[in-house]
Amino acid sequence: MDLDFTEDEIRRYSRHILLREVGGTGQAKLKAARVLVVGAGGLGSPLVLYLAAAGVGTIGIVDDDVVELSNLQRQIAHTTASIGTPKTASAAAAAYAINPGVTIEPHASRLTAANAMELISRYDIVCDGTDNFATRFLVADAAVLARRTLVSGAVLRFDGQLSVFRPHLGGPCYRCLYPEPPPPGLVPSCSEAGVLGAVTGVIGTLQATEVLKEIMDIGDTLAGRLLVWDALATRFRTVKLPRDPDCALCGPQATIRDLSAHAEAAASDGSPGQACGV
Ligand SMILES: [Zn+2]
Repeated sequence: MDLDFTEDEIRRYSRHILLREVGGTGQAKLKAARVLVVGAGGLGSPLVLYLAAAGVGTIGIVDDDVVELSNLQRQIAHTTASIGTPKTASAAAAAYAINPGVTIEPHASRLTAANAMELISRYDIVCDGTDNFATRFLVADAAVLARRTLVSGAVLRFDGQLSVFRPHLGGPCYRCLYPEPPPPGLVPSCSEAGVLGAVTGVIGTLQATEVLKEIMDIGDTLAGRLLVWDALATRFRTVKLPRDPDCALCGPQATIRDLSAHAEAAASDGSPGQACGV
């Protein structure tokens, strides 16, 4: 581990280095880490900004959308001036403005069954900041098949959820919790049902916190637990998430061995699984 920091780095990260659990060793782990953020929207914005501020060395951002006026109520990596520009470019500019010492790798394309394995395999940890089930299950399946830790967040209206899935290190996968996507139309999206902007900020920031913990291997992992937040009631709950021994993705009799089902689904319903952010 390279503990050779410049004077500027020591000053920039001094409040981290002061923490006994972080120190120079933890900061060096952050610098060496590679994290992929899928979706540069309401969750992806605070994620990218806090990971960059924290000094996570390489941050990939996948999103094929451009910034729209209706995004700005919650997607704080983007500005009014960036309307019409790719979200990857806008988020990268915001991250570099905070910390020019990190490397942002923008992937201005959709995450698909064809590119998900290759893309996710290039990173240590993947964060799900998408708002559609097609991409959510694609990310979840690819993360397990590539043996990568998935830090998953979701929001709708005034509610948020958060968990960490890393069955290669023990604990359940996303499909242990949700075996199949819900039927189309059953669960509304944020664009249909709305979301309080600050709720995405809280869950995205909690995701960033769990990413930093996983990289530095500090504290209690959220793997095997699901955090549920009701913002209207101001109530956080944590429920245990057991592994499903019959899980089709991570169980001993797993039937999901590749991403071919996603390619077929995209071909049949015409939705290629957009990486649109919340
Ligand atoms: Zn599973």
